[in-house]
Amino acid sequence: MSEDMDLEARQREDYVVEELPEPAGKNRIVASIYLDNQATTPTDPRVTEAMLPYFTEKFGNPHSADHGYGWDAEDAVEQARAQVAALIGAEPREIIFTSGATEANNLAIKGAARFHMERKPHVVTCTTEHKCVLESVRRLEREGHRVTFVPVLPDGLIDLAALKRAVNEETSVVSVMAANNEIGVLQPLEEIGAICREKGAYFHSDAAQAIGKIPIDVRETPIDLLSISAHKAYGPMGIGALFVRRRPRVRLEAEIDGGGQERGLRSGTLPAPLCVGFGEAARIAREEMEEEVKRVGALTKRLYRGLSAALTGVHLNGHPTQRLSGNLNLSFAGVDAAALLRAVPKLCLSTGSACTSASVEPSYVLQALGVDADLARGSLRFGVGRFNSEAEIDASITMLVAAVSKIRAENQG
Ligand SMILES: *Cc1c(COP(=O)(O)O)cnc(C)c1O
Repeated sequence: MSEDMDLEARQREDYVVEELPEPAGKNRIVASIYLDNQATTPTDPRVTEAMLPYFTEKFGNPHSADHGYGWDAEDAVEQARAQVAALIGAEPREIIFTSGATEANNLAIKGAARFHMERKPHVVTCTTEHKCVLESVRRLEREGHRVTFVPVLPDGLIDLAALKRAVNEETSVVSVMAANNEIGVLQPLEEIGAICREKGAYFHSDAAQAIGKIPIDVRETPIDLLSISAHKAYGPMGIGALFVRRRPRVRLEAEIDGGGQERGLRSGTLPAPLCVGFGEAARIAREEMEEEVKRVGALTKRLYRGLSAALTGVHLNGHPTQRLSGNLNLSFAGVDAAALLRAVPKLCLSTGSACTSASVEPSYVLQALGVDADLARGSLRFGVGRFNSEAEIDASITMLVAAVSKIRAENQG
């Protein structure tokens, strides 16, 4: 642990940009290139703008029913709920606001499993899920539920034959993510949903990475529960939502008890400014997704082509086409990813997921794909997003090619 902290401290020092005369620790991020849009996205200025009045003159509690401050805040929250619902083809009353995708995943999985524990004591998920899904399932296991972790194929897609064998009449909920946060792989939601419907199990999907990047429509896809997060889609941190289907009705046990807000499923005062920001982010995503996916996809291709044209031993982890348009997970043969990151201090990238980037273990996601341990240690996650430019991509290629070549030369000498 202390070794990890030392490493982290050293890495932080490396991030101080040399040319700046300012005291260390202040303008660390000036002149850096942000390519970590799977960890979080910058807040869109239109989102920030929409939120501001709800911190100042429109500060009311959206649950205050006796005066205009409350009514204004409530109207704004309900407009936001409609905007979030529209992004996924849901009805507004099917949207339960939460503090983020972590809470939404906890509510969906534990809530469904605990509600149906007696008749359906079995839960199914996949080995490459986000930690908050895996840990929710492990807690259920300690409470006496049976759990099955379905493996993935070497390209990162879930093994559908194994899933089919795993799900049965005793399964309460199957949780499989829409898009993976490390390798960007998109899971076949239609097929998974069909397997769940056949066996009478709820299908929950963690769509934190998918929202605003691939079209998801719950009217067409048999998803019963869907988790989303604002800060992965240019909205504010600290808010997300769970879609809970009404027809056929999905029954959950609440995690947080209190005043009975959010249809009794999530008590607590709604953060009106964050709801408004989430709504605006959802509006922008719905209107601009198609064009943005093309633009971000072209930048990502440019990055991949540039790196693989100049370097040998560049491996793309995960399915080559069934993936988020802005994600690349690359291994550089013979190169340790942590050393590579230290050699490109102006690039903001990560070696894996943000939650585990302090650890030196190879990623459990890459291990689940069967990626060789040495290559897994050499893997970097690139997340290209809305605010990246072609010039940033070209500068990144130049820096990475120089750093990889230098590290490889040193290893040989
Ligand atoms: C970021 C992320 C989460 C957690 O979302 P928060 O809103 O930060 O709690 C869950 N699942 C996936 C796939 C993610 O990328």
